[in-house]
Amino acid sequence: MSAATRRTSGELEMMVMTERLPVVNEGSIEAPRKVRPPVEPSTLAHRDLRDGEWWQAVPAFAGVDAATFHDHRWQMKNTITKASDLLEKLSGLASEAFLADAAEGFRIAPMAVRVSPYLLSLVDWKNPYEDPIRRQFLPTASSRLPDHPKLTFDSLGEQSDAPVPGLTHRYPDKALFLALDTCPVYCRFCTRSYAVGPDQEMVEKVSLKASPKRWEEMFAYVASRPELEDIVISGGDAWNLRAAQIRELGDRLLSIDHVRRMRFASKGPAVLPQKLLTDDEWVEALVGVVDRGRALGKDVMLHTHFNHANEITEVTRRGLGRLFQAGVFVRNQTVLQRGVNDTEEAQTLLARRLAWINVHPYYVYQHDMVKGTEELRTTVATAERLEKWVRGAAAGFNTPTFVVDAPGGGGKRTVHSYEYYDHLTGISVYSAPSVKPGQLFLYFDPIDLLPEEGRARWAVEAEHGKMIDEALEVAREVMVS
Ligand SMILES: *Cc1c(COP(=O)(O)O)cnc(C)c1O
Ligand code: SF4
Repeated sequence: MSAATRRTSGELEMMVMTERLPVVNEGSIEAPRKVRPPVEPSTLAHRDLRDGEWWQAVPAFAGVDAATFHDHRWQMKNTITKASDLLEKLSGLASEAFLADAAEGFRIAPMAVRVSPYLLSLVDWKNPYEDPIRRQFLPTASSRLPDHPKLTFDSLGEQSDAPVPGLTHRYPDKALFLALDTCPVYCRFCTRSYAVGPDQEMVEKVSLKASPKRWEEMFAYVASRPELEDIVISGGDAWNLRAAQIRELGDRLLSIDHVRRMRFASKGPAVLPQKLLTDDEWVEALVGVVDRGRALGKDVMLHTHFNHANEITEVTRRGLGRLFQAGVFVRNQTVLQRGVNDTEEAQTLLARRLAWINVHPYYVYQHDMVKGTEELRTTVATAERLEKWVRGAAAGFNTPTFVVDAPGGGGKRTVHSYEYYDHLTGISVYSAPSVKPGQLFLYFDPIDLLPEEGRARWAVEAEHGKMIDEALEVAREVMVS
């Protein structure tokens, strides 16, 4: 009998523990044998969260102390809602040429302006053209590309799948509950630019205000459909709901027996995390809904939207840490954007930093076909390449799935699951058998990233229909074989 087999199970457990857990200041235990070279320090960059009083580099915030800057009321009061105010705040910070370019960019942009001081302070204004946060919120005229000819407003067809305004019932068991039409900031690339924010010069929007009457109709619809187990509360953005509205929405939906899962969707943690530290009433309302859900055996979560590691600071860690301590789990959805997060490094750093603050990366979306944002879109091939890199860089549950939200209402498809993808024309064809059986859905890569031959074909209008027919035909052949 060997020595090990004579040990009690308690002793064995101790052995296992000391083998697994490095014991600090314990001279008798040897460091594990090196089986691989030490890591490059850059591998751990995801742990370096921005801290200190960095915002004071922005002249307009130079005199603002930490207690003031990290108060959500101050952030909201000082949120910039006019392009002219924004540009004024940047004068002396960014170059004159950049400011003129941005002024013209705003003039032609269909999106409303709303930028928090926090976001503004995170941009590297010495290098605004390359900055990943600037690119998401401030358009420049010089980088503008023509829209893809196949782009349509509300490309996801959310309105055609809506039995009640603002309630999209596309998938068998889940629905999207668009509770309101405002957000703490407005993103250039927003899929819901058909509804979110005030009307712009170029667009008249669908009204999805947080009205009691509309909510009642949506509750009644959810209650009438026993198959609906999963409700996504989005908008707009739940950050802008009052605490009482969070409670009302949560309680009403939790009280419907067949509703088993709910997610509140908010970009707030990425753009105004201060709310998590100073808006106690709102945080308590959310935690209250999560707790009531748990008591009922129902799963309530927060879904958020970070696109770049620079959006995660020490303030984010503290704010989301508060939710984590209170038992609120958080998942993240990212929009893949050219010049923002379309590199292996950016995606890997983001996934690791999210994991570091206990947020699970859930999806990375292929950029939807949204007006005026062609320069932010990239190809399906890029998404496939990035997915290959990110997988393996973090735990499996911290690895996002790269998806295309199929234009025309096919729902989310994993990016590499196309039936056919023509790299020359940039047309990918998807099917969604459990969502819209028998239908095919098309996504179009931005034309400026196509090979010369593909660009030439798109330049001829008569070719458009032919390219699409060709792609559909190959897809159908592949599918029957
Ligand atoms: C994204 C989405 C959902 C939720 O889908 P998951 O894949 O479960 O995250 C539900 N309804 C609509 C209309 C959606 O766009
Ligand atoms: S916060 Fe979300 S809904 Fe609001 S503008 Fe940004 S992407 Fe659109």
